[in-house]
Amino acid sequence: MLNVLELQKKLVAAALPSGFEHKVAEVISEIVKPYVDEVYTDALGNVIAHKKGPGKKIMMPAHMDTIGFMATYIDDKGFIRVTNIGGISASNMVATPVRFENGVKGIIQIEGKADLTSAARNAVAMTNMFIDIGAKSKEEAESLVEIGMVAVFDTETKVIFNDHLVSPYCDDLICCVSLILAMEQLKDVEPVNDLYYVFSTQEEVGLRGAITSAYHIDPDLGIALDVCSVGDIPAVSVPMVVGLGKGPTIKIKDASVICNPQAVEFLRKAAKANNIPYQNEILLAGGTDTAAMQKTRGGVIAGCISVPTRYIHSPQEMVAISDVENAAKLLAAAVCQKIEF
Ligand SMILES: [Zn+2]
Repeated sequence: MLNVLELQKKLVAAALPSGFEHKVAEVISEIVKPYVDEVYTDALGNVIAHKKGPGKKIMMPAHMDTIGFMATYIDDKGFIRVTNIGGISASNMVATPVRFENGVKGIIQIEGKADLTSAARNAVAMTNMFIDIGAKSKEEAESLVEIGMVAVFDTETKVIFNDHLVSPYCDDLICCVSLILAMEQLKDVEPVNDLYYVFSTQEEVGLRGAITSAYHIDPDLGIALDVCSVGDIPAVSVPMVVGLGKGPTIKIKDASVICNPQAVEFLRKAAKANNIPYQNEILLAGGTDTAAMQKTRGGVIAGCISVPTRYIHSPQEMVAISDVENAAKLLAAAVCQKIEF
């Protein structure tokens, strides 16, 4: 069986922000080839892995783009200004190690105010931040980093106590891992349905890859895989029942979608029949590829399985490995069911 930590490390090493998914796309295409009949990439860079089957078309996206940074300006001393790609909260970023796409490393800092109070930190904007790559001059910095180059968090992926995995970009690479595990489980299973595993692009900037791939595939059912936030950490702003290690969630609603009750029931039925633990998810903020699928063409029945995740969009997100594995089991069990709607 594929190993969650090893797979996540491989994907993190290759992943880049939205619009720059080519490297991780190559890595994923290579890994999934043995599990399907064909793998291809479309104009937006979505990796579409198709396992042909007689039943209805099921599209299963997990997005392989990440949030990150793009260099916009290099000042006279060689410090690099950046803009955000996707949802970056500046207060989360102070002293975060980062890595440009060409391997140049640096750290993010705030303009001369490392000892800001937390209230002041929350008011910090991207425009107050810069990346220090250790260059001594503008010329030196320009020889290493070009305007338009993208950067990602350069933080570690590791397993800590209780089989909790800490890593940058659990959102959504850990769900790419779940999707690959599900593909592995279904490798030698005669398919009931026509299966389209999609590693989608540009989710973090508006579900763009899923919009075009859903239109292309024209599925009968869509099941997205993404992360969802949790209520089992100190000082959550809104109480939430979801916690780590209690199973993947079956989404009922997020800010972008109200899942079709048929899809929710389809997933619950699979969980119950196979004794897979699950939690009910209502996510107040945030959207997923689920919404893009649901609204394509004349409308598609859509649902979502989520991996509960602490500290989403920070440089160190945390998940329980058992939830990642159970998300894969749930998806694999679900798509083996006949679709009655
Ligand atoms: Zn996501």
